[in-house]
Amino acid sequence: MINKKTINLISDTVTRPTPEMRDAIAQAVVGDDVFAQDPTVNKLETKVADMFGKEAAVFCPSGTMANQIAIKTHTNPMDEMICERNSHVYLYEAAGYSFNSGIGVQLLDGDEGRITADQVNDAIRKQDVHFPQSKLVVLENSCNRAGGSYYRLDQISPIAELCRANGLKLHLDGARLFNVLVETGDKAADLGKQFDTLSICLSKGLGAPVGTVLCGSDSDIAQARRYRKVMGGGMRQAGILAAAGIYALDHHIERLQRDNAHARILESCLSDCRYVQEIKSVYTNIVIFRVVEEIDAQHLVEKLQQKDILCLAFSKKDIRFVTHLDCSRQDVEHVCEALRSIEFDI
Ligand SMILES: *Cc1c(COP(=O)(O)O)cnc(C)c1O
Repeated sequence: MINKKTINLISDTVTRPTPEMRDAIAQAVVGDDVFAQDPTVNKLETKVADMFGKEAAVFCPSGTMANQIAIKTHTNPMDEMICERNSHVYLYEAAGYSFNSGIGVQLLDGDEGRITADQVNDAIRKQDVHFPQSKLVVLENSCNRAGGSYYRLDQISPIAELCRANGLKLHLDGARLFNVLVETGDKAADLGKQFDTLSICLSKGLGAPVGTVLCGSDSDIAQARRYRKVMGGGMRQAGILAAAGIYALDHHIERLQRDNAHARILESCLSDCRYVQEIKSVYTNIVIFRVVEEIDAQHLVEKLQQKDILCLAFSKKDIRFVTHLDCSRQDVEHVCEALRSIEFDI
């Protein structure tokens, strides 16, 4: 049981709606969204489409479903998707690209999760009966497994240009995109221009309980709605959830700077801990670090758990902290104290 005192750094998905967000949920005007009659869902979809300068948007139950719908919308069976080796669409969606879309994948090794136009260019297949057909490039921003690193707009535009020149579609998995935009100052609408489709999660740093919005052209989103239906993602009075998303977009974007700053405080504290071997550079709200040879990540996870601090062993030697709305400055200080007090016989 997770009590109130527990500081949960497992993910930024663990946030619970604030009292103000719960008010917005309680006030939501709802209808049946499968008949496009939920005004609050319609409002959320229009809001996100407008933010990114896109024609339309569709509200999805999860980020995974939004990505899967985007992949399905842009490809046919026997096509190939190009993405980074550690990307969510490849690693954390149960090979859904194969199950849902019947496509193959070509993996690129990124620099802190980022791939380049040159790499994509080399990965594009020739027209040949033997080969899968290159059809889609997926970027992730921020890059989760790489420790929250990000692409700036000027790193994305050459890839977008290349995709257009070669008839490839470009999708952005923007689960944590706003953590990036508050750092770079890039404008959502400028980013929107680069991609055919973009998905943003409401249930991560933004602090809503459920939901991801996928935006794109009218025709792509019309198709996406059919795929959402066939995947079982058509929801009825979903305005209850969309209201939380609207509230989050209105009130929880600017404050992501604080989460990013909290991650840097944790980074600085970890750099003084003897049991830490290496910390990935911190760019946004994710801190990934490696423990020394003598201990396993799980040992430290357990020691922190005894102090009511939860975090994730990302591998045998790596640990991830994610900062978020339910983790205050005071909580961060408390975690730092705990980290400093822990000792190993090494
Ligand atoms: C969390 C996440 C998603 C979506 O996850 P869901 O749990 O399905 O909402 C997609 N991409 C990235 C990079 C993520 O971190």
